[in-house]
Formats: sequence, C-alpha cells, structure tokens
Amino acid sequence: MADVRLEGLKKTFGTIEILSNIDLTIDHGEFVIFVGPSGSGKSTLLRMIGGLEPISGGRLLIDNELVNDIDAADRNLGMVFQSYALYPHMTVKENLAFPLRMAKAGKAAIAAKIAKTASLLQIDHLLERKPRQLSGGQRQRVAIGRAIMREPKVFLFDEPLSNLDTDLRVQMRVQIAKLHKQLGNTMIYVTHDQVEAMTLADKIVVLKDGNIEQVGSPHDLYHNPASRFVAGFIGSPK
Ligand code: ADP
Ligand code: MG
Repeated sequence: MADVRLEGLKKTFGTIEILSNIDLTIDHGEFVIFVGPSGSGKSTLLRMIGGLEPISGGRLLIDNELVNDIDAADRNLGMVFQSYALYPHMTVKENLAFPLRMAKAGKAAIAAKIAKTASLLQIDHLLERKPRQLSGGQRQRVAIGRAIMREPKVFLFDEPLSNLDTDLRVQMRVQIAKLHKQLGNTMIYVTHDQVEAMTLADKIVVLKDGNIEQVGSPHDLYHNPASRFVAGFIGSPK
C-alpha cells in the first residue's frame, strides 16, 4: 500500500516558519490536490515529500516507512514540475530511458517500457526528436512519461499545466485523469486552478499561510466550506 502520512510536518527557512504542523493522510491510489494562494507553501510541501527540501520537524512516512532522511532518488517517486527539465541534448527516447538506465535496468526491459509508455501518452511518433523540436504540450507529455518510467508508487506534480494554453490544458487534464485511472498510483498534485482541482481530485487540501485550512472532497468543500476563504477559493456560493 503506497500511502503517504504527514505528521506535524514543519518547514522553516531561517527563522521564518513556512509550514507549521501539517497533519495529513493520503491513501493508496488517492488523487490529492493542494490548492492555495501563491506563497501558501504548496511547492515547499511537495518538495519535502519528494525529498528535494529538508524537513525541519515532524515525520514523513511513505508506506509506513519513515523517510525524513531518505534521499529523493531512493523514495521512488515520479516528479513533474512546471518547467519540464527534459535533457535538451537527448532525444525523447533517451530522456525516457534515462531513469531506467540510472537504475541499471537491462536494454530489453528499457525498450519494452519505452514502447508501453510512449503508447500510453501517444508520443510514439516523437521518440527520435530532441526536446526543442517539440511543442509545449508534447514536452509535457514526455516529462510525464519520464516520471512514470520507473512505475513510482507516488507521483508528484507541481502545476504541470500552468505553462500551456487553455485548449491544451483541458486535453492534458483529461490525459492525467486517464493516466491515474490506468496506473492507480497515488497522485499529489499542486495547482492554483480551481477547475483542475474540482475535476481531478479525490481530496482537496486547502493551504493558507502554511497551514491546512480545510481537507475534503470537491463536493464537501463546495457545499460545506469551512470558511469564507475556502468558499472564495473553491468558488462555492456561501
Ligand atoms: P506556493 O508554491 O504555494 O506558491 P512556496 O512553497 O513556493 O509557495 O513558498 C512558500 C513560502 O516560502 C513563500 O513565502 C516563499 O517566499 C518561501 N520560500 C520558498 N522557498 C524558499 C527558500 N528557499 N528560502 C526562503 N524562503 C522560501
Ligand atoms: Mg508553487
């Protein structure tokens, strides 16, 4: 069971507390979305889960294992951020292969996995291209493909669609929902787009000034917002 548990998680930069006492349980296979205004701590929280940012206090457990001090590479998480960060000198195929090559997978296993991933994300025809020969949406699909190559138990997405234009965003949203359905992984996804949050999430976590303001299903938050702030954010009538 790939679940993620945050117990009194804290982050301070210098003397400033950015996140205070975050308690949250994310179940196996759940699609959880962090929303909140800019600066509320969404990215920092995601980076802490991903092992890219040291934890200042509290406990982070993945599958009941305490991972506070475990390196990002050893947490087997797939990460996709707003800036695609594909390797510019490598082809799409080489970009996809990279995480498995690092994990010392065999050639045949890598080829099979590339074929499967490329077909899932409909990027088969792009395998020999370099990132600069791709559109924004294609690049983002490749980045997602690369993140799923090692079949991570948990995916972390930080505003993966925010650089795309509206049409593409809608298409990619549908694709991400499909991916979650097919792979059944736990997804932790940051966005400031209400529509994305309301349509994709099983559970929405609303952050405000480094605290959790409310956690609930889109339906709960819409119909029973805990505060005016949540109502305003979710766009419910209260
Ligand atoms: P969000 O993703 O919700 O916009 P962030 O997690 O990026 O918010 O930032 C939360 C707060 O932490 C902000 O006030 C930001 O300025 C601060 N912060 C983020 N990274 C650092 C850092 N490396 N050093 C100091 N402050 C930081
Ligand atoms: Mg952010």
